[in-house]
Amino acid sequence: MLTVDGLTVTYGSFTAVRDAALEIADGDVLALLGPSGSGKSTLLRAIAGLEPAATGSVRWDGADLGRVPVHRRGFGLVFQDGQLFPHRDVAANIAFGLRMHGIAKPAQRQRVRELLELVGLTGYERRKVTELSGGEAQRVALARALAPRPRLLLLDEPLSGLDAELREQLALDLAQVLRQAKITTLLVTHDQEEAVTLADRLAVLDSGRIQQIGDVLDVWRRPVDERVARFLGVTTVLPGRAANGTVTSALGDVRLPWAPDGAVSLGLRPNAVRVAASGVDAEVLSRVQRRDHVRLAVRPDMGPETLDAVAPMAERARAGERVRLVLDPDGVAVISA
Ligand code: ADP
Ligand code: MG
Repeated sequence: MLTVDGLTVTYGSFTAVRDAALEIADGDVLALLGPSGSGKSTLLRAIAGLEPAATGSVRWDGADLGRVPVHRRGFGLVFQDGQLFPHRDVAANIAFGLRMHGIAKPAQRQRVRELLELVGLTGYERRKVTELSGGEAQRVALARALAPRPRLLLLDEPLSGLDAELREQLALDLAQVLRQAKITTLLVTHDQEEAVTLADRLAVLDSGRIQQIGDVLDVWRRPVDERVARFLGVTTVLPGRAANGTVTSALGDVRLPWAPDGAVSLGLRPNAVRVAASGVDAEVLSRVQRRDHVRLAVRPDMGPETLDAVAPMAERARAGERVRLVLDPDGVAVISA
């Protein structure tokens, strides 16, 4: 188990990470999510031992790692650009850590074969890494990091350099690999979708501080404040009143069994408002056809303001026409503060 306590990292007089605390239980995946420049890489690098801590501690199963150098921590690292060794083939890249550990050649070959299978690149041993696609290179980087069976895998935006479609596929594959092999992982990302796909738990970092940490679904449903909510995809905040798991608002009622009774702030994501046969009346302001739905900008008669709403592909309503709206609980967060 990884335990980080009171960790502060400075660059000269600038504090990049302030008083960070987190734990990762064995086999768990924690995603560290935050905007660019929020200190994610700095925190990951401090955990890896690549950046000195000004104060605080990094421990593994209780043992302080403060004086343990990077290569002795037993951690595997993957960065955005996999940083493979260009003059070695795929097998030699993956076997790198095994050679360092003095593993015998036949055992190395066996392990390389296992890992290539795990990352979906069976038979790639002799390929030149300079001739791999971006997605293949990241798979090799992952295999190389996993080869020595690290006790913790540290991933810093491993999919950010890939185009959208590939990123989605690789996120799904990576989720499968991490779950199947129960690899304890810290994933740094600025992409909420990636975080939700891959992680069991989520930590939201902003300006060097961890603003919220918890189970993915909890954080997703109950962001601690509006800023965190907006970072987690909320575009509209709407007052409501909850009683026995039903929240009433200007956009009608929505079942949110986990909402606390009383006045609440609803955080609406773009998929929270749907066009339906019945519901609150609204005027369509504009429409855009998307890959798998129609996105409307609408103005509900009873307020609150201009909203996004989603409709099925078959929806014909155009600007100036009328529609009805309902709230979809899957798109709604309850903001704590
Ligand atoms: P993120 O990974 O969330 O984008 P970083 O951890 O890379 O953020 O950076 C956090 C802050 O620290 C940024 O303001 C960045 O400019 C600054 N920073 C990062 N590395 C250094 C460095 N080596 N020297 C000085 N400032 C740095
Ligand atoms: Mg970074």
